[in-house]
Amino acid sequence: FGEVSPQAGDDERVVESALRPHSLGEFIGQPKVAAQLGLVLEGAKRRGRPPDHVLLSGPPGLGKTSLALIIGSELGTAVKITSGPAIERSGDLAAMLSNLAPGDVLFIDEIHRIARPAEELLYMAMEDFRVDVVVGKGPGATAIPLDINPFTLVGATTRAGLLTGPLRDRFGFVGQMEFYSPADLQRVLDRSASLLGVQLTGDGAAEIAGRSRGTPRIANRLLRRVRDFAEVHADGRVTRGVAEAALRLYDVDHLGLDRLDRAVLEALVVRFGGGPVGVSTLAVAVGEEPHTVEEVCEPFLVRAGLLARTPRGRVATEAAWTHLGHTPPQGAGV
Ligand code: ADP
Repeated sequence: FGEVSPQAGDDERVVESALRPHSLGEFIGQPKVAAQLGLVLEGAKRRGRPPDHVLLSGPPGLGKTSLALIIGSELGTAVKITSGPAIERSGDLAAMLSNLAPGDVLFIDEIHRIARPAEELLYMAMEDFRVDVVVGKGPGATAIPLDINPFTLVGATTRAGLLTGPLRDRFGFVGQMEFYSPADLQRVLDRSASLLGVQLTGDGAAEIAGRSRGTPRIANRLLRRVRDFAEVHADGRVTRGVAEAALRLYDVDHLGLDRLDRAVLEALVVRFGGGPVGVSTLAVAVGEEPHTVEEVCEPFLVRAGLLARTPRGRVATEAAWTHLGHTPPQGAGV
C-alpha cells in the first residue's frame, strides 16, 4: 500500500489503539451515526437487553472499529474481534459464538468477505441465538442445535450493498459512516496531539486536516510524520510551515491524494483520455484489484469532485485534469 493508504499496517494498530476514543462522548464527528447509535444503546440499557445487531459501513479508517469497541464500553461488556476472511471454517465461528458471555459484543470486520457456510450459521445465531453443531461426517452427519447467550453482532463493511440481502436484513441498525469535514479532522488532530504530547498550532492542524483525505486514520498518521520532521528540522512545534515542508517531503499533495489515487486519475486522464472507462479496465491499468479501486480509492475521488461514476464508466472531471497539471480538452468530463 502507498504511504498514505487508508488501511492500517500491523505496527500502526499498536499506535492506533492509544489514540482511540473510548466513549461516544469522546468520539468526534459522524453526528448522524453517533446520535442514532446513542439512542440504540440507551434504549437497550433501559430495557436491560442487548441492543440490535449493528452494521457499520464506510471506507477504511473512518472509525468503525473504534465504534465497535465503544459499543462494548458503553454497555460494559466484552468485545470479541474477528474478521470475515479470518473465519475459515464455520466450526470456528460456532465455537466463537458459543463462548460468548451474555451481552457480549462480537465484532466482525470485513463481514462481506465471510464464507457462505459461516454466513448461514450467522443467520440463526443472530435471529434465535442458536447454532447448529454438526456431529459426524457424510450421510450420517446430524446437526444438533445449541443455545448460545444473547449477544450483539457488530459488522463492518466498506459498503452495505456488498452484503447478501439475508445478512443485511438481520441487522437492526445500519450506520453509514461519512468522510470527515476538515473542522472535525482538526479536532481529531488536536486530541491526538495532546495524547502524544505534540505541540500543534491551529494553522498547523488546519494544514494537516486539509490533506487527510477526510479520514482520521490518515490525519493521525500524517501528524506522526510531521512530528518527526518538526523534531529533526525545527523546534518540535508543528506549525503550518513545518507541516507544509514535511508533507511536501512525503509527497502528500494539497488534496491529500495517495499513490493509488493519483495512479487512478493519471491512468484515467492520460491513458483513457478522461474516460468513460470501466472500473475493471482502470484497475488493470494501475495493477490493483477492482474492489480496492472501487471501495477504497473511488469514494474519496468522487467526494473530492475529481471522478464521476456514470452509466458508461468512470469519467475524469475538469478538476482532475487541472489537479494533475494537464489542460482539460474542450468539453472534458462532467
Ligand atoms: P476503521 O475500523 O473504520 O478502519 P478505526 O476505528 O480503526 O477505523 O479508526 C482508525 C483510527 O482513527 C483510530 O485508531 C482512531 O485513532 C482514529 N479515529 C477514528 N475515528 C475517530 C473519531 N471519531 N475520533 C477520534 N479518533 C478517531
